[in-house]
Amino acid sequence: MPVNCGFCGSGLHTRATCPSTWSGSAARARMRCTYCGGNDHNIKACPKTFGGNAARAWNPSSVADDFVKDGGR
Ligand SMILES: [Zn+2]
Ligand SMILES: [Zn+2]
Repeated sequence: MPVNCGFCGSGLHTRATCPSTWSGSAARARMRCTYCGGNDHNIKACPKTFGGNAARAWNPSSVADDFVKDGGR
């Protein structure tokens, strides 16, 4: 299943991380990778770890709530 926002229809984030919703923008503000310090993903979806990189490449829906592709808000 592709990443898709049920709120605004964007394919770059899920509803859980939609910047158009209050809870989504709060989730983004909290999103911070403890591995590399990036603020557009959590460690589960970190492209610098083997597991995170593999999940993003092959099973992005499994980490859909753990990273955003469109950054910012
Ligand atoms: Zn959205
Ligand atoms: Zn990271």
